[in-house]
Amino acid sequence: SASSPDSHQTSSGIQARPVHGTSEVIVGVLGGGQLGRMLCQAASQMAIKVIVLDPSESCPASSLSHYHMVGSYDDSATVQEFAKRCGVLTVEIEHVDAATLEKLEQQGVDCQPKASTIRIIQDKYLQKVHFSRHAIPLPKFMQIDDLDSAKRAADLFGYPLMIKSRRLAYDGRGNAVAKDESELSSAINALGGYSHGLYAEKWAPFIKELSVIVARGRDNSVLCYPVVETIHRDNICHIVKSPANVSWKIVKDATDVARRAVSSLEGAGVFAVEMFLTVDGQILLNEVAPRPHNSGHHTIESCFTSQYEQHLRAVVGLPLGDPSMKTPAAIMYNILGEDEGEPGFLLAHQLIGRALGIPGASVHWYDKPEMRKQRKMGHITFVGPSMGVLEARLKSLLGEETVGGE
Ligand code: ATP
Ligand code: MG
Ligand code: MG
Repeated sequence: SASSPDSHQTSSGIQARPVHGTSEVIVGVLGGGQLGRMLCQAASQMAIKVIVLDPSESCPASSLSHYHMVGSYDDSATVQEFAKRCGVLTVEIEHVDAATLEKLEQQGVDCQPKASTIRIIQDKYLQKVHFSRHAIPLPKFMQIDDLDSAKRAADLFGYPLMIKSRRLAYDGRGNAVAKDESELSSAINALGGYSHGLYAEKWAPFIKELSVIVARGRDNSVLCYPVVETIHRDNICHIVKSPANVSWKIVKDATDVARRAVSSLEGAGVFAVEMFLTVDGQILLNEVAPRPHNSGHHTIESCFTSQYEQHLRAVVGLPLGDPSMKTPAAIMYNILGEDEGEPGFLLAHQLIGRALGIPGASVHWYDKPEMRKQRKMGHITFVGPSMGVLEARLKSLLGEETVGGE
C-alpha cells in the first residue's frame, strides 16, 4: 500500500530520490588497506561513494574507491584537505591524527566514530585506563618508564610478562614477552625502548580468544554479531571460526562485555572487541578496534549484513542490517606472506589455486603491491553445513600445503 514503511513517497506524492546511491553522503575513509578495500566493495553494491586517504598510490583500496587522495592520514593539513571532500569521515585504521579529527569536529565535520574514540583507542595504555574506569574486566596493566618500573610490574604480575607499545601497534608488532627477568631489557629494546611509550600487561592464560563485532547506528541502535573464536599464530590473527564453540553462558558474557565496552565509546560504526576466555570461564577484554576488523571478514559470506556494509549503514545513518549468520558455520583463514617477493607470491598462488577447488570457499586477494613475510595478503572464507565439515576442508587445503614444503 502507499503507506507502507518501504515507500519512499513524500507527503507531496513526489518520489524522494537521493542524488546517487542508497545514500548521498560521501564517505571519506582514512586509510586504504584491505579493510578500506572491502568497505569499497560493500559501498559499490549500494552505490555509496567512498573516497580514501592513503599514502600509497597502489594501496588495496585505491582501484575500488570513487577517489583516492594520495597522502598521509597522520598529517594534519592533508586530513583537513581530505575532510573538505566528504560528508562523513571514518577510519579503517586507528593510527590517524586524532588531534586534527578533534579540531575538525569543532568546525562541524562529521567524524564517525568520534575523535574521542580514536584518541582513546589509538593509545593502548589510555584504552586500558578508560575501560578499567568503566568496570570492564581486563588483564592487570601498568605503565613502565624504566627497568625499575618494569621489574616492579614483573613483581606484581609475574612471568611471563607481556610488554606492549602504547601506540602504532598492529599484528602483534608492538608486543614483546619476557619469560623471566633476564629477558626484560631485551623485550624492552625489541620495542624500541621506553621513549616510545610502553606498558606492561599481566599474562592472560587464555584457553580461547573471542571477538565480537558490535555495530552502533547514528540513532544509537546497537546490534552484536555472533561471538567468534580467533586463533593467532605469532601474535597475528590466523584463523577465525564463527560461531565460537563455547557455552551459551560464555556467549552471553562475551557479548555483554563487548556491548558494554562499545557503549563507553562515542560515535557510529562497527567496533571489534577482542577478548580472552580464561580457564575459569572469565572474559577479559584485550583491545577494541573502532572499525571493521579481521575477525569480521567472514561476515561477507556468512552473515545477512557484512561488517563492511554495516559500517557504511552506521556512519551514513541508514538502518542497521541483520548481523546474524545465514550459514551454519564459517571459517576464515588469513593468507600471510610466507616469503619475500616472488617466492612468496608463488606460495600464495598455490594456496589460492587449491582453495578455488574447495566447495564453499571464497578467495579474497588484497592486491598489495609488495609481498612480505607475515603480511596479510588475502584471506579465504569457508562457509558450509557444520564446523566439522569446514575444519576438514581447511585441513585439506593446508595438508596439501605442507607437502609443498612449509
Ligand atoms: P591486532 O592485529 O589485533 O591489532 P595488536 O598488535 O594490537 O594486534 P594485541 O591484540 O595486543 O596486538 O595482541 C596480539 C595477540 O597477542 C593477542 O591476540 C594474544 O594472542 C596475544 N596477547 C596479547 N596480550 C596478551 C596477554 N596479556 N596475555 C597473553 N597473550 C596476549
Ligand atoms: Mg590492535
Ligand atoms: Mg589485537
